Amino acid sequence: MLDMTAMRLCFCCGKETPFGLGEPALPLGWVCESCGHALQERDGIPLTAPALADTLTGFDPADFTFLATAELDHFWFAARRRLIIGLVDAYFPEATRFCEIGCGSGNVIGALAASRRWSRIVGTEIHTAGLSLARPRLPGQVELLQADARRMPLRHAFDLAGCFDVLEHIDRDEEAIAGIAAALVPGGGFIATVPQHPSLWSVSDDIAHHQRRYVRGELEAKLERAGFEVLFSTSYTVLLLPMMALARVRSRKAAPDQDPRELARREFNIQPRLNRILQGILDVEVKLTLRGMSWPIGGSRVVVARKRAETGSGKGTSVAPPARNTVAA
Ligand SMILES: [Zn+2]
Repeated sequence: MLDMTAMRLCFCCGKETPFGLGEPALPLGWVCESCGHALQERDGIPLTAPALADTLTGFDPADFTFLATAELDHFWFAARRRLIIGLVDAYFPEATRFCEIGCGSGNVIGALAASRRWSRIVGTEIHTAGLSLARPRLPGQVELLQADARRMPLRHAFDLAGCFDVLEHIDRDEEAIAGIAAALVPGGGFIATVPQHPSLWSVSDDIAHHQRRYVRGELEAKLERAGFEVLFSTSYTVLLLPMMALARVRSRKAAPDQDPRELARREFNIQPRLNRILQGILDVEVKLTLRGMSWPIGGSRVVVARKRAETGSGKGTSVAPPARNTVAA
């Protein structure tokens, strides 16, 4: 992995300023020395895309409050957290500077913050509603920034980035992938999860403001185009696919006068006993995946990638260390 000076970008004039490991990526009260633009803030959180902070861009901020607690024990989110931490440990054991793009109310970044020692850990989110919920739930070391993933205000600042069920909310997802690539050092890692199979589209996707469910190979191709090398890709929530398909059919048949938001939230309302059973099933799946098993189908996809070394213009040839084919358990 090449080490490069981390830069913060003035989103007003584009001027890049270097910053060191000991300092925040974007400190409150920061003023661009080139154009004099002063960083705005809300509730102590720096705003780098203030015009988008309260919009419905790809997500309804009202859902953060609901998700913040619903995610904690829900089998699907718990399994996803274990999968992500396992992949981070297996593929990027040396990473010390992490950024989660679209961190919402902070459940994943909180788990990652506790999983190892980071020298820099930043969560970005376009909606301040999520960040205001996240702040008191996260350790002080986690720096939070309101930012548009398509215009990341940081360059070469991280050796690992993650984007977990976020890209499907963004209409021009390739711009976000390019923004994430720019925030990484050459050789830096990237892990993304997305929903897949358009045939599984349901009212939940509508309510969640999804722009798409990914088709086979789509995310991998977009990553390659942005200068990433794909190290590992698999479906997950494979073992629950039959149940998921059944639930989708049921919700499509539901009476038209039912509130679609209530229908979508019903997927979260699971009896504790059933939640434990489903958790057990997904635990087995996560263990097998972390041993290197790649599943052909499943409700979601996880892709592990590495930014290729740059050759002047940004995209380059692979001079990064060889890819790992399997993941240690
Ligand atoms: Zn400026």
